[in-house]
Amino acid sequence: MDRIVVNGIEYVRAQPVAKAAKRVPQPKMVERQCKWCRKQFFARAADVKRGWGLYCSKTCKAIRQEVRTGQYRAHLEHRDADGYGGEFSNAHQFSNEEHDCNKD
Ligand SMILES: [Zn+2]
Repeated sequence: MDRIVVNGIEYVRAQPVAKAAKRVPQPKMVERQCKWCRKQFFARAADVKRGWGLYCSKTCKAIRQEVRTGQYRAHLEHRDADGYGGEFSNAHQFSNEEHDCNKD
């Protein structure tokens, strides 16, 4: 497909392969600001597209995740104490009282 012959003259198409090989496989970088430490850094555009490149380093990402999971755990514990615990003890006491009243 790269060659055509017209009237006995061979034409060779400029090879796109060579062009591609010349292109250095350097990823496109975009400037970002770390979501944790606010440091400016460069992330690969492809990564940013995927939702990555939010943190300047793995350390920042790890810290951020730890904080997030810690908050989530605290949230669960808080809910247990206020919601589940309260509702459960109330319901339990009510049913116990009823049973005890009927019994006695
Ligand atoms: Zn950072």
